[in-house]
Amino acid sequence: MAFSSRDIALPEKSPASFASFAISIPLYRVFDYDMASSAPLQAGLRYRLPFGRGSKTGILLSTQDATDIPLERIKTALECLDDTPVLSEHMIALARWLAEYYLQPPGEVLFQCLPGYLRDARRIKPTRVKYWHALPVDAQLRERLRIRSPRQYELLVAIEQAPDGLNAARLKTINAGWHSPVRALEARQAVKWDWSKPAVVHPMGQAAPVLSQEQSQVYAELKNRLNRFSVHLLDGITGSGKTEVYFSLIQKQLEQQRQVIYLVPEIGLTTQLIERVKLRFGEQFVSSHSGLTAWQRFQAWDRFRRGEVNIMLGTRSCLFSQCDRLGLIIIDEEHDSSYKQEDGIRYHARDVAIKRAQMLDIPIVLGSATPSLESLNNCEREHYYLYRLLHRPTAYPPPCLRLIDTRHVKLVSGCSPAVLQRIDQHLSQGSQVLVYLNRRGYAPVVICHECGWHAYCQQCDARLTLHQPVNQLLCHHCGYTQGLPTACPECGHSDIKHYGIGTEQLEQGLKRRFPQFPVIRIDRDAVTSRDEFAQRIRKLQTGQSCLLIGTQMIAKGHDYPGITLSVILDADQALFSASYRAGERLVQTAFQVGGRSGRGDREGEALIQTRFPEHPLMQALTSSCYRDIAHSILQERKMLGFPPFSRVVIFRADALSLDQAMARLEQIGLCLQASVRKREVKCIGPIPALMTRRVGRYRAQLCLLSKNFQQLRGVLREAMPAIKNIPSTHSVKWVVDVDAYDL
Ligand code: ADP
Ligand code: ZN
Ligand code: ZN
Repeated sequence: MAFSSRDIALPEKSPASFASFAISIPLYRVFDYDMASSAPLQAGLRYRLPFGRGSKTGILLSTQDATDIPLERIKTALECLDDTPVLSEHMIALARWLAEYYLQPPGEVLFQCLPGYLRDARRIKPTRVKYWHALPVDAQLRERLRIRSPRQYELLVAIEQAPDGLNAARLKTINAGWHSPVRALEARQAVKWDWSKPAVVHPMGQAAPVLSQEQSQVYAELKNRLNRFSVHLLDGITGSGKTEVYFSLIQKQLEQQRQVIYLVPEIGLTTQLIERVKLRFGEQFVSSHSGLTAWQRFQAWDRFRRGEVNIMLGTRSCLFSQCDRLGLIIIDEEHDSSYKQEDGIRYHARDVAIKRAQMLDIPIVLGSATPSLESLNNCEREHYYLYRLLHRPTAYPPPCLRLIDTRHVKLVSGCSPAVLQRIDQHLSQGSQVLVYLNRRGYAPVVICHECGWHAYCQQCDARLTLHQPVNQLLCHHCGYTQGLPTACPECGHSDIKHYGIGTEQLEQGLKRRFPQFPVIRIDRDAVTSRDEFAQRIRKLQTGQSCLLIGTQMIAKGHDYPGITLSVILDADQALFSASYRAGERLVQTAFQVGGRSGRGDREGEALIQTRFPEHPLMQALTSSCYRDIAHSILQERKMLGFPPFSRVVIFRADALSLDQAMARLEQIGLCLQASVRKREVKCIGPIPALMTRRVGRYRAQLCLLSKNFQQLRGVLREAMPAIKNIPSTHSVKWVVDVDAYDL
């Protein structure tokens, strides 16, 4: 089926008509209002609506002649906020599908599709910007201005010196009261303004490298399948040039006047990809991510919507960018868990993107060096096309992972002597070294040696982490902090000790050990803005020998050719995790981190420290490729009947007491009971969540699991109407998570 993104004009309304609106509140319903006879009635327009004692913004969904609401209670819509709909017919259809599939409140879903800036009752401001340009001025006028009107003269000279003209923001820096002098210059025909020029198809920026034989072959196959809906998985080892293949596909679509959405995991901090796209496609793209203000994100959304730019590069929510000529969606690092939204509206951006591509009858390309098991399974079942890139076009192959056994070895700041020796070797050869440790802070465990007291969060079932520069204990789940006690709060003894290491301690240790080399730490505490990130990473870019240490933030996406050694510390936690996903995540991280090294003209090396070198998963990491390991994990999942061989829906509740949370889920369980019994659907729970108390609330869950998706949908279809009426209040909240990532 093909949807066009043209707006629909609804039929002329009769004087007594009503409209249904989506309002951003967590209720499974829409709201009817009476419409004044002059009100414009197009789906996708925003209105200000009376609501309770105040007002709320609503998105018009449909109009009708009648309503179930008693006439004396119905209210009249206050004012229309838009000249043209902010959501296209296609986007409303996609949102409705999302709400239906993920069982999310429709109002919240529709608002999620808008940039944050439009979720309030703001009118759209033009995102085009005025630029003032100089006109030829004769010598006499120039002299008169210079003597009589110094302010005008100063601004005129500044405008003359700017080849692309000056906008209001720039003029203001020259003279805060620029308005009236510029107006006077306009009247004298010394300057005139124009809108910022739309980026019409721009000549290529940087020339594309010649694709390797492997890349060309993948591109050649793919490009013949771009004219209709199809899902393509590009499974290419780290550094194999997937990005170059995406670029070629984008180029092809731009030549056909089509637009492209290019999704990446969180890029708020990393400018590398943005720079690369800019070099390649000049001004034809916008990017949108959490490093921008709401207004900047709105600007990006609006420019893409108006077709002023043809590429939208951004994170998860950019999936909802609208445009008239969408021709391709690309999802890089498709395995990344940041595509699954875990709060507010619960959806998986990759899966919604596939639905969107299907609705528009366009292709979608997923790419990763470590594809998700879901996607690999879909390739095996021939739902997706599969392409492989097995070589790096210029550099050495990614290094094989090697285990460093840490049993019977004394660690120094978390590193074994063997690891320190390898680091030393690489640094002294002028290389850069990456050390991955997925734990922030100084030490994760603080205890009293005398009585065994542990530093726990008061609001969560979690330990407090010691952060040293401030000597604070911090909860990583709720942000609770307290000073490090000098005496044990239980027994008063002063023998308080810390155990384990985090990135802060690692940084200190490595600085002490390698004083002549810079140590760059990247984690959420060290880096809070793009500028900070850029500043820290600068040394890396110079190619100077240095150490890069950090958490998840350094594990993916970066391409620094100077790195020749990657080290993974403390991967063992994953071997004993309660999560069935832990193994898969460990393997993905190991290959991603390992793949950061050896991208330049020197061969790379990758090490994993472990106390369990005989564990089958650790053994597999050193002897098999990602695909083979993924395949065996898939076999295991099949035997156990876990996703992707079954589907999971989890109802979660949180409340001020565990009893309340459990009781709410019991109530939901009762609604499900009859339907579950008739079908091959397993219902597990309610049980307390793994971390039962979080941010002061107690959490429990009820899980539905089935190998037969249709049967699971059948249960939900029957039970949801009753469940939707169960209140979700502040004291007891419940939500549903369809295709939950974990159990
Ligand atoms: P991936 O996205 O698979 O990790 P990239 O596209 O980032 O890989 O490529 C890795 C490096 O190799 C980049 O520095 C890129 O510029 C370079 N590269 C990719 N393809 C080619 C090619 N055909 N010729 C020369 N260099 C290439
Ligand atoms: Zn004590
Ligand atoms: Zn906490």
